[in-house]
Amino acid sequence: MTAAPRSTPLVPAHVFPSREAPAALRAGQVLRDIDLCRDVEAARVPTAVARRDKLVELRRVALAMVRDEGLLDARACWRLAALRGEPGEAGWLEFDGARLQAPWLVPSSGQLTGAACAVATLGDGIEQRVAALFGERRASLAVALDGVANELLWALSRRVQDRMLAAMRRHGLCVAGELRAGDPGLALKAQQVVLDLAGAHRIDVSLTTTLMMNPTKSTSIVQGVGLNLPVQAWSRCDSCRSRDRCALMKDAA
Ligand code: SF4
Repeated sequence: MTAAPRSTPLVPAHVFPSREAPAALRAGQVLRDIDLCRDVEAARVPTAVARRDKLVELRRVALAMVRDEGLLDARACWRLAALRGEPGEAGWLEFDGARLQAPWLVPSSGQLTGAACAVATLGDGIEQRVAALFGERRASLAVALDGVANELLWALSRRVQDRMLAAMRRHGLCVAGELRAGDPGLALKAQQVVLDLAGAHRIDVSLTTTLMMNPTKSTSIVQGVGLNLPVQAWSRCDSCRSRDRCALMKDAA
């Protein structure tokens, strides 16, 4: 889960956008071999960790463990799902062979032409190491490693969103809105559709029968794509019941 940005890029002057999604965007991209540790090392220490020296040191040890033991198998993929027709009643969006109910993505002006769908995962190495540390009764380090995994997943989310944004802009398309299945604005039961639209099989991410992602340290993203979309006036965090407890919201403050 990540706190949502509220941005709409400008269309570059040299680009002539059309409603038809270019083949390159429909094919999307797979990202691998990403040095996320560098991103996290360069990032601000989370507020909840920074207030105690012991937690800062545990985070440092956990990050070194990720690097030294090769626990990270970060990979991500995205695709642009082209919208068929216009958004329907109650925000239903039709794509090739799939439909999503995402009324928040329907813009007040401009034209929605598709949805950029992404899936990102850290693999299962960190998760297994966390379980092993708990088994060895090294709970503090296990918790620190789990926290570092969340930071790494956030960094990976940013990387894939940056890639999507750059690709859309190259084709004169705007990106607005960010939804994640299970957060306000997109039902958890939409998760399988999002994974299918993103082509999650390309990076071996799937869903369990209880709609948990496998590997667990994974996330999915849906963003509206279109022409002349207005500046986004909402965030999925606005009405979230977990807002007061959410570590990501506290860090963003
Ligand atoms: S506030 Fe809610 S929607 Fe926003 S990142 Fe936290 S849990 Fe997700």
